[in-house]
Amino acid sequence: MHIGIRRSAVATALACSVVLPAAGAAGAGVPTSGAASHVGVEYFPDPAGEGARTSVPADSPHTQPAADARRRTAAPSQDGEVVPLAETGPTADRLDVTIIGDGYTAAEQDDFIEDARTKWDEVTDIDPYKSYAGLFNVWAVKAVSQDSGVTGDPSRDTAKNTALGSYFWCGDTERLICVDLDRTKTYADKAPATDLVIVISNSTKYGGAGYSGLAADYGYDGVSTLSSDNDRSTLIAAHEMAHSVGLLADEYQYAGYGDYPYPEPAYPNASTLTAGEMAAKRTKWASWLGEPDPSGGVVGAFEGADYYEHGVHRPTENSIMRALNTDQFNLPGREAMIAGFYRSANALTPLVDTSATASRFTRLAVGLADLGPGLSRPRLRWYVDGREAGQARGKTSVLPAALGVPADKRAHQVTATVVDTTSAVRSPAVRDLTSNSATWTVRR
Ligand SMILES: [Zn+2]
Repeated sequence: MHIGIRRSAVATALACSVVLPAAGAAGAGVPTSGAASHVGVEYFPDPAGEGARTSVPADSPHTQPAADARRRTAAPSQDGEVVPLAETGPTADRLDVTIIGDGYTAAEQDDFIEDARTKWDEVTDIDPYKSYAGLFNVWAVKAVSQDSGVTGDPSRDTAKNTALGSYFWCGDTERLICVDLDRTKTYADKAPATDLVIVISNSTKYGGAGYSGLAADYGYDGVSTLSSDNDRSTLIAAHEMAHSVGLLADEYQYAGYGDYPYPEPAYPNASTLTAGEMAAKRTKWASWLGEPDPSGGVVGAFEGADYYEHGVHRPTENSIMRALNTDQFNLPGREAMIAGFYRSANALTPLVDTSATASRFTRLAVGLADLGPGLSRPRLRWYVDGREAGQARGKTSVLPAALGVPADKRAHQVTATVVDTTSAVRSPAVRDLTSNSATWTVRR
């Protein structure tokens, strides 16, 4: 399924305004390819600190020639091989995450699969990913590198020849891992569907990055990079995916940025309104104000968000969208993530063709995503011509006759609807998003 909405022009414009002078150095003298020569990227210089944004080359000076992988590997077919790590439903009804390894030789591909599994397990240990893991398919794509490890690890002058060219010290920042985006795409395209990409660089050193807003050029919104054997790097992926899925703003600010120069942003977790104004207008995260938050403290309107210091607010003092010293999304962030999950995925998949007319004795069946336990609380109901057939509540397979479809000559509509009754959603619009249905026409 395709993720529909992108980071706003505001964020894009800002990314351009914070280009560091050093950013061009890493790509100097390297021919550029692909759609954009430079792209915005976010990184976390301190494993427990706030993020930063800069602009980096879209390609890498450390990418091995494509032929090298084929020549060097004992099992040539391995390069580009796809291993499903989690296949929970049809790609049209799921968010598809593609994980690609870099700096793994042919002999290390089993290590990559193990690392990919571990990283995904760590991401889905964080709510709301945890409660909604059943809405994700996860594909691991093997990329065979000539060298083991990646450029810049352990030291700045360490050079490696790898399939995706990932490297520390991107833009002169040690913890910023950049990657060749075009090469990444050739591997991502091997997966059956890709909504988000995670690149795992074979390294124990802390680092990573997040590219977002790539959809126009690459077909998927975001690429997160992270090091394989450093558990702090997992939080980078959890944070970056939240930009693409939940359309969340960064909740940190830069010293000296001053007053927010924009009108009310579309972000669900940043607002020019104070708590009082929000409550009066019943907008943004008004329904969560005053609630104890999983990130600590209570939900309010704290000044400083979306990179600016004044005139813009975030919902909580801290959260994973502000700093990586916590793995907790705040309540408005969770709700926005759940909205994003359901924008791109369906919890209900019809198992009987809805385009063919069924009879009263055609068994109608639906598949439900395996959600919870946790935040999610799916509720399945069946309706005949809009009226609920209460006896079928919770059943994934029914006979229209048993639902009470009459044996007359008319066409009747049988509908199965699942709605997520989770208390993590308060907005009626988001609740509507969590409702997925299938409808059949039934005739005698
Ligand atoms: Zn961010």
